[in-house]
Amino acid sequence: MTTNRGRKDVIRDRMAATGESYNVAARNLKAMKDTAATREARLIQRWLPAESLDVPCPCGGTCEPGETCDRCHARHRHVKRYPGSVTDVEAWADRYECMGCASSYTLTIHLAGRPWGVAETVVRGGSAEEVVLARVFPGVVHPLLRAEVASESGPDED
Ligand SMILES: [Zn+2]
Ligand SMILES: [Zn+2]
Repeated sequence: MTTNRGRKDVIRDRMAATGESYNVAARNLKAMKDTAATREARLIQRWLPAESLDVPCPCGGTCEPGETCDRCHARHRHVKRYPGSVTDVEAWADRYECMGCASSYTLTIHLAGRPWGVAETVVRGGSAEEVVLARVFPGVVHPLLRAEVASESGPDED
């Protein structure tokens, strides 16, 4: 309840400051919130793998410990994180690579409150079918979807 009321106060403050209508002020505030979420999504994705397994994983400790490799018995290391779904914006995929050989695997994880984009329900076509479309935050690299604005680093392919 307090959150909702707080949000309306913030919108009214912006209306008073900018002279915008309620809808415009609300939309601009949402864009600013998206900007903050975008920044965080980029941080979730952009880090370099740890040099050794003795230090905490730079992803922020939200991954599973790497499994022992069946082939060479070395450990797998978390090396990469990218969006893990085309509709669930809180689903991320974590790639692990073996530190001793070319073995690798991917785990899908759910990071609540840390989306890689915004999911929007749109009505499509003559059948008026409702579909969920995800919009990827600018700068976030999605293996299947394109971000609204091209990221400066370009798609990062394996
Ligand atoms: Zn990690
Ligand atoms: Zn291995």
